[in-house]
Amino acid sequence: MNVREEVMDLVGQIKRQLRNSEDIGLDAPFLSTTSLNYLKRGPQLDIAASGESFCGDSLKELEDFISNCDRCKLSTERKNIVFGEGLADARLVFVGEAPGMDEDVTGRPFVGPAGKLLTDIIKAMGLTRDEVYICNIVKCRPPGNRDPEPDEIGMCLPFLKAQISLIKPEIICSLGRISAQSLIDKDFKITGHRGEWHDFMGTSLMPTYHPAYLLRYPQAKRQVWEDIQEIMLRLGLRDPRRLEDQNSD
Ligand code: URA
Repeated sequence: MNVREEVMDLVGQIKRQLRNSEDIGLDAPFLSTTSLNYLKRGPQLDIAASGESFCGDSLKELEDFISNCDRCKLSTERKNIVFGEGLADARLVFVGEAPGMDEDVTGRPFVGPAGKLLTDIIKAMGLTRDEVYICNIVKCRPPGNRDPEPDEIGMCLPFLKAQISLIKPEIICSLGRISAQSLIDKDFKITGHRGEWHDFMGTSLMPTYHPAYLLRYPQAKRQVWEDIQEIMLRLGLRDPRRLEDQNSD
């Protein structure tokens, strides 16, 4: 048994003892609620690169956990951490690549031109931004909007995983190449394989093009809408435009 396995074994034993004490009506007054929750549940997130663990059970606690983050070099030039926003128990989570200039200034995801297009896509689904959750692979803007680098993605991905495990969505929609490569496979080819279902942490994942790509190549909107309709089908959502057509017949 290595040290980590020994500690996990010990935590397991303590958890069992706590449950037994609870079963017979005993409390464990010498432990804080946070410690008690930690022992009951175990850590939700182990960050191998920095040796930390997070054991909160809300998005707010996670956001506080990474406030003032300086775990990677993106922290040096960012104005704001763009944690993500939306419904805490959303059925659908959109995952983009990284904040751009508008997002860096406001601290909110997808509020620039690409964000406006994403908002339109969400509306076309018959939903609002408040009914889904929107976030990114990395939470700080890469200087000059360059692609996030592998070490930056590696450092930030555990926080996205923790977000997903707290939200527990039915579907994740990854937007663009970087998001799909981070969540599916580093060699994933978005042009050949968008629109195909994958699995991320036990959740169905649909990779599609990034809205910024659609601003450059509007002809790809049709393919994105096909992917979105796949998502709507799984969520049991009706195309509001078809419903309008039916009502006017
Ligand atoms: N592009 C992204 O990938 N994410 C944002 O939040 C904005 C633009």
